[in-house]
Amino acid sequence: DRIVGLIEGVILDTIAQTNAHRSDVIGVGIGAPGPLDRDKGLVIVAPNLGWRNFPLRDRIAERLNLPATLDNDANCATVGEWWQGAAQGGTDVIGMTIGTGIGGGLIIGGKLFHGASDVAGEIGHTTIDLNGRHCKCGNYGCLEAYASGPAIATRAREVLVREETASLLPSMVDGRLESITAETVYRAAHQGDAVASEIVRDTARYLGAGVANLLNTFNADVVVIAGGVTQAGDTLFVPLRAEVRRRAFRPAVDAARIVPGALPGTAGVVGAVATFRLGTGMGLN
Ligand SMILES: [Zn+2]
Repeated sequence: DRIVGLIEGVILDTIAQTNAHRSDVIGVGIGAPGPLDRDKGLVIVAPNLGWRNFPLRDRIAERLNLPATLDNDANCATVGEWWQGAAQGGTDVIGMTIGTGIGGGLIIGGKLFHGASDVAGEIGHTTIDLNGRHCKCGNYGCLEAYASGPAIATRAREVLVREETASLLPSMVDGRLESITAETVYRAAHQGDAVASEIVRDTARYLGAGVANLLNTFNADVVVIAGGVTQAGDTLFVPLRAEVRRRAFRPAVDAARIVPGALPGTAGVVGAVATFRLGTGMGLN
């Protein structure tokens, strides 16, 4: 209830700061980490918040006396990029958001695809190595265990500990390797550091394999990759596109543009508005 109170506070503050009136607000679109039950408006598990089968949608709706909708945060980010960002004009869109995890969303035939039980789009937890790294979902070899922000930092630390290669990375964190983040790796790669560049190239190969699997499955016209990883720019996207070309069918590769997200930090919010409008029959125009 404390969290619901905080959310209510942010919404009321936002209304005040934008000189809007409560009557200008037609409802609340909520993007929350999965797994969810959209029909019932439940967050099934959110370990960081201590929620289990928590009726988030209805709690917010009751507190604010407004209609509310609930969808997965990565689905929202994908819809946000499709409505206002880098995936505009796409019909079949694959969205990936790379941060502490890898979230995904699928738009098929111009509609957000949820699947039979709201699991669709969990791209981060598709297997890219049968005997691979342990993932926090319990599986082994998930894409997320290789290419999420923390996974990128972990792989960099492993190389630095294992090999005595000269690298800028230790000096960038005052020798505290545990302070290395994915962002440190991108910065070092931009400065031409060999270890960091290799980590970014490997990240591009993992993501490229993941994207190739998806293109051969969905034959999308846009793949939008958002989150902190876009800071790596062409050092990531050029080898990523090359890996996709090596692995996916030619007509699938030719039909797809693979682009960085255009709404850093706001795709999820824009998309939550869009999913509210779609969920309540308002449409997006
Ligand atoms: Zn996993």
